[in-house]
Amino acid sequence: MNDDRQVVVIGSGPAGAAAARELVALGIRVTMLESGTSLPEGLLLRLGRRNFFRRAPQAGEEGRHLVSGDPRTVCYVKLAPGGLSNCWTGAVLRFAPEDFTEGGRLHERYVWPVTYSDLAPHYEKVERYIGVSGDTHDVPQLPAGFVTYEEHLPDDWKDVAEAAGKHGQGLTTYPLADGPPNMLVRRGTAFNSYTEVVRPLLASPHFQLKTGAHALQLQWSPAKGRVDAVIYHDRATGATERIEASAVIVACGPLGSAKLLHNSTSSDFPHGLGNSNGVLGCYLHDHPREWWSFEMERPRQILSPSAYLTRLPYDSSPPLLATSWTFGTASTADRIRSRFGGKATSVGVQMIGTMIPTAECFAKPSARQKDEFGLPALEVHIHYSDAEVQNVVDARQHLMNVLEEAGSRATIGDIVPTLFPGTIAHYGGTARMHSNPRYGVTDAWNRVHDAPNVLVCDASSFTTAAEKNPTLTVMALATRAAARLAHDLARA
Ligand SMILES: Cc1cc2nc3c(=O)[nH]c(=O)nc-3n(C[C@H](O)[C@H](O)[C@H](O)COP(=O)(O)OP(=O)(O)OC[C@H]3O[C@@H](n4cnc5c(N)ncnc54)[C@H](O)[C@@H]3O)c2cc1C
Repeated sequence: MNDDRQVVVIGSGPAGAAAARELVALGIRVTMLESGTSLPEGLLLRLGRRNFFRRAPQAGEEGRHLVSGDPRTVCYVKLAPGGLSNCWTGAVLRFAPEDFTEGGRLHERYVWPVTYSDLAPHYEKVERYIGVSGDTHDVPQLPAGFVTYEEHLPDDWKDVAEAAGKHGQGLTTYPLADGPPNMLVRRGTAFNSYTEVVRPLLASPHFQLKTGAHALQLQWSPAKGRVDAVIYHDRATGATERIEASAVIVACGPLGSAKLLHNSTSSDFPHGLGNSNGVLGCYLHDHPREWWSFEMERPRQILSPSAYLTRLPYDSSPPLLATSWTFGTASTADRIRSRFGGKATSVGVQMIGTMIPTAECFAKPSARQKDEFGLPALEVHIHYSDAEVQNVVDARQHLMNVLEEAGSRATIGDIVPTLFPGTIAHYGGTARMHSNPRYGVTDAWNRVHDAPNVLVCDASSFTTAAEKNPTLTVMALATRAAARLAHDLARA
């Protein structure tokens, strides 16, 4: 490859970090632009495979986004090295093969252009370096990944696993990027994409990081027929800078990436880069989620790490409507007791439901509000349909039924009101991948159909949202896209 070729990666969260890591490993020169300036502090004490103390920084709510649709919508961002991985829980679940295809039961627009087998080697590559704690066995609707630290369900939950099995579901231990069994670090999470991926890259002559560099626009060159530079605001000097690029990886998170592409207007793309078919920003989706607790008639072993009950089988569920249940304890005392086989009757649950992405939920430029740089602010318009809310509500009772069938009646306790958009910070779909540009902004390699030297590598690219936490799939897609880009650049 010619020495003047470089890829500009925008964002150092899990998506940008995974892409940069792959490019540098393949000998490609990378400059990463990161809007944030310093790593937020936190504290994590992990002993004997349990997190005894964890203080993670709060995800900030970006007031600059304009919210319409459900007025309770929240838009968490972390403009900092490592992005939201400074705050995340670290649940790393693979999608199942059907998660990429089942939307076809509704319409071809819901079929991903990638399959599980396309992604499987990239899942494993990421799992190997993030260090997953979990079970090594597949369960229905959840393939096991590569596990570094084995964890198993306590024996006295095996009857619940059997009862779940009768519904075609699996009960397993929650796969987490929890890191080594013992650690004391000044950050809030065991895996942070800056400390674990980006910082080690700084030793490579192929890698450069510019912090305080907030990307404003991608610059389209009509003469070259491609994007050839990124315009950014340098927070240290206040100047507007330009950096040349052979290719650009956009990884600002699903709202930030949509905003950057929308703001990248030119005479060839007056409505934003990648928006020739009006799809950019549409199909915004999120995970309706709910927190509650239940009380069992008889105590069972404390779950730490949590247990994960997989969704109902695809053929017995309406298309694209599913729920998963994660249950365990949030109490430090219980975590300590769990190490010694302690039992309890009270259990906390997080349920994650799905949305059916439509053009009615979107992230588009506001006609009336500007951001701090004078560019259109982003309007985030999202709400859950009645069916999406009901799907989550019905799922409460399903878990109670499974417990009762396992011989331990339980009653639902307090329900925390979190059933409104954004509370789980799992937005996606704003630059969705689809083989047909009518239905997608990006192709199967995360390349913008209109501008193939621009790759959108965060959950913007999700065609649909499974009921599983998104970040592992984001990182696997980013790794796969970067590997293809490196291959193409080497041949150019
Ligand atoms: C409390 C909490 C718990 C979570 N738990 C889980 C979990 O258990 N499992 C899971 O899968 N997911 C979880 N998530 C979600 C997860 O954190 C995100 O899916 C993940 O961080 C997304 O990675 P990303 O790289 O796409 O975006 P981000 O992490 O948001 O990173 C985006 C990066 O881009 C930078 N940036 C943004 N705009 C610009 C710009 N214009 N120019 C330059 N840089 C820019 C930001 O500073 C940031 O570094 C959780 C989130 C929260 C808040």
